Amino acid sequence: MEPPLDRSTIWPYENGEPGSFHYARAAHPNGVAAERALGELEGGEAVLFASGTAATSAVVLALLEPRATVALADAAYYGTGVTLTELGRWGLRHVLFDQTGPPPPDVDLVWIESPSNPLLTVPDFAAAAAHSAPVVCDATAATPVHLRALERGCDLVLHSATKYLAGHHDALVGAVVCRRVEDAERLRAFRNATGAVAGPDAAWLLLRGLRTLEVRVRRQTESAQSLAEWLGSDPAVTTVRYPGFGGLLSFDVQDGEAARRVETGTTLIANATSLGGVASTIETRHRWEGARVPPGLLRLSVGLEPVEELWADLRRALART
Ligand code: PLP
Repeated sequence: MEPPLDRSTIWPYENGEPGSFHYARAAHPNGVAAERALGELEGGEAVLFASGTAATSAVVLALLEPRATVALADAAYYGTGVTLTELGRWGLRHVLFDQTGPPPPDVDLVWIESPSNPLLTVPDFAAAAAHSAPVVCDATAATPVHLRALERGCDLVLHSATKYLAGHHDALVGAVVCRRVEDAERLRAFRNATGAVAGPDAAWLLLRGLRTLEVRVRRQTESAQSLAEWLGSDPAVTTVRYPGFGGLLSFDVQDGEAARRVETGTTLIANATSLGGVASTIETRHRWEGARVPPGLLRLSVGLEPVEELWADLRRALART
């Protein structure tokens, strides 16, 4: 049974002293329960945040020194670059690199993503782990079902738990899972001091999502494998990107105009952003990411609908190009 949802912000002191729960910004029962479950899945110490983006900010602000340099995979989620650029006002620097090879020398943190959203590249884990700087892996799209990045030599795993971990497009939440307990303690102290906590509702939904994570992701993977193959043989599709695991893929049609006709032509698959939910979503990414991606690129997050129905929906939409 899940622990009950506890929306309290305060708990009485015990014999005049604060107990393990006293004020919700510091810790609350649903948050701790979800952290424990995620920590077990990843094999580390999990710390929840208000979103994946809050988790990203916390990693660099809490664990690096002012004027540090981050080596960021050039294929990583575009928002990670936006966050690091914003923090450039405070002296943080970042340099881009191709994560399929070794990270550049003389950086203070290496940031990889597996598989990257939406270009679906997979990092060279051995090359990243051989670097002297700590390594963080954004494993949002892989999930611990397909990747336990701490076992691949990473120091920190980051999740937009908004996506597969919570899994239903109804909770905004992020997490960092740490190999070293000291990093988790530092992140908790930073979270308490800066306030980017995940609330009890999001934590409760996350824990409930984790209970079905494996069956959801395995089914999404099976469907995505079939769709990647079928898309590859459709005459309207010029490129398919799929690493062979997970429920996320991207494919290209001729140009931006054709991509727009596809995304507005599906009926079962929602034309919406985000990924990792039980409901499939599709969108062109050029609108958000500009020249980083081809104008004809469509990102497809495969949900739990019957795969034949998903394919029929896609085929009808592709016929409009
Ligand atoms: N990392 C990846 C790979 C993502 O796709 C996203 C969001 O799309 C984030 C991080 C940011 O997470 P959030 O939207 O929960 O802040």
